[in-house]
Amino acid sequence: MPRESPKAWLVGAGPGSADLLTVRALRIIEQAQALLYDALVGEEILALAPHRCLRIRTGKRAGGASMKQAEINALMARLALKGLRVVRLKGGDPSVFGRSGEEKDFLEARGVAVEVVPGITAASAAAAQFGFPLTQRGQARRLLLLTARIQDGALDTSGWAEAAGDREATLAVYMGRDGAAAIAEGLIALGRDPQTPALAVENAGTPAARLMTAPLHRLGEVISAAAPSGPVLLVIGDVAARADDQSSLRVSDLGGPPTWLSNVSALSR
Ligand code: SAH
Repeated sequence: MPRESPKAWLVGAGPGSADLLTVRALRIIEQAQALLYDALVGEEILALAPHRCLRIRTGKRAGGASMKQAEINALMARLALKGLRVVRLKGGDPSVFGRSGEEKDFLEARGVAVEVVPGITAASAAAAQFGFPLTQRGQARRLLLLTARIQDGALDTSGWAEAAGDREATLAVYMGRDGAAAIAEGLIALGRDPQTPALAVENAGTPAARLMTAPLHRLGEVISAAAPSGPVLLVIGDVAARADDQSSLRVSDLGGPPTWLSNVSALSR
């Protein structure tokens, strides 16, 4: 059999539950020979890879050691150039705060072809699970995916002024758990109404999801009191008022993931 040319897949694993993988992602994971995965990718998804597949954890959770980006890049290239089917599994969508651009550039420069497989990003998962839309006609005409940069201990809000001042913009803030109070304060200072509906979702898209809601000026306080330890997404804007804990669909309501997965798996072959 001719040796396949070197290739790596940058795959979105979605927000956590295996039944929120795309069928394409599942098919690629099932054929992986080397899996490099981030901390946000759960056991349920890792278990879908073949038994003999090499599994390499690249990310940290709660203070553990994590690989440097340069090491991850080099390792991926090395494994792909050896002829292994390399799958880089990332939480959510690889193109949203997932460094997929850097990894793609690095690999392609070394002769490794790259295919990106999209995933469900945390904002989509949170909205679906808690019954609110990210855009809404006449109420939220823009959706901004943001992250907050802390520089020298202070929040860097450069470029946020327009978003803060546009009441019809929904802000989905990634990596904002610890900076939530500062983010809210920064937005209010730039003109957002302190009463703007806001929410935070921990572990969106999984059975362990938790919704926290508050007007913007109290968001930080409410999150601190809830002390979430998982990944948290913030959503700020009028659509947040529509969030409803009762509408949350639990995976357990569907009869559990194994049946689902085996059906999807059968379909994809
Ligand atoms: N590529 C990912 C984002 C990676 S950045 C995506 O598309 O979702 C990591 C941040 O994403 C976390 O700090 C958190 O803000 C958010 N995030 C990822 N998974 C999440 C989840 N299941 N629930 C809530 N937020 C999540």
